[in-house]
Amino acid sequence: MTTQNIKSRYQNTLRAIEEYSDLYHRNGKDIHLLAVSKKQPIKHIEQLYHCNHKDFGENQLQEALEKIEALKHLSDICWHFIGNIQSNKTNDIAQHFSWVHSLDRLKIAQRLSAQRPKELPPLNAFIQVNIDGETQKSGIAPEQALELADAMIKLPKLRLCGLMVLPKSCSEFGQQRSAFAKVRQLQEQLAKQGIPLHQLSMGMSNDFEAAIAEGSHWVRIGTQLFGKRVT
Ligand SMILES: *Cc1c(COP(=O)(O)O)cnc(C)c1O
Repeated sequence: MTTQNIKSRYQNTLRAIEEYSDLYHRNGKDIHLLAVSKKQPIKHIEQLYHCNHKDFGENQLQEALEKIEALKHLSDICWHFIGNIQSNKTNDIAQHFSWVHSLDRLKIAQRLSAQRPKELPPLNAFIQVNIDGETQKSGIAPEQALELADAMIKLPKLRLCGLMVLPKSCSEFGQQRSAFAKVRQLQEQLAKQGIPLHQLSMGMSNDFEAAIAEGSHWVRIGTQLFGKRVT
């Protein structure tokens, strides 16, 4: 992919976000783009960074650490972890990332808080919710979200921001919207129970319009920005 190509894909994506933000009466400032750079070469990340984009998402720790090391001269780049987290990975995540979108276990959250270096601000965190009840999938069941959130907000080096979802893939707009609506309703329910969480991380290349319609604050977009992933 050429620099020109990445730049125009980026501009198109920003334009689409703006358009949906107007269409669904959202405040454009509330909607952030997370560029999902997993399985993309470092060159693509640099190209997008030079378009003045700072937020990048990775889901494999080893691959992410290599990229973070190679790009450490870009001092204000901001890394988000969006993949499964095993206990033995928490130390590296606590040190090298600013955001984690995929928390679904208290034990992992506790380790991240304990291992977060003192000189760094708290790690921004989302609780991943398994909204379709798919058995294979990570994410906590909606009915367990309150208990987890209640324990997580007490962790000193974690800042609980909201809920994240990776719904069952589907191409029908109405169905996409209804999955995201369930997450928004869960957020409202938690707020009524005394846990106000202000952000939602939802929407990818194929469903970010529906996610914005239902209140997303972070759309996590990979292929639409960078093209097909290289494996
Ligand atoms: C890969 C991935 C994305 C981006 O998916 P695209 O369809 O390429 O936009 C978003 N969120 C998570 C958690 C992912 O793993």
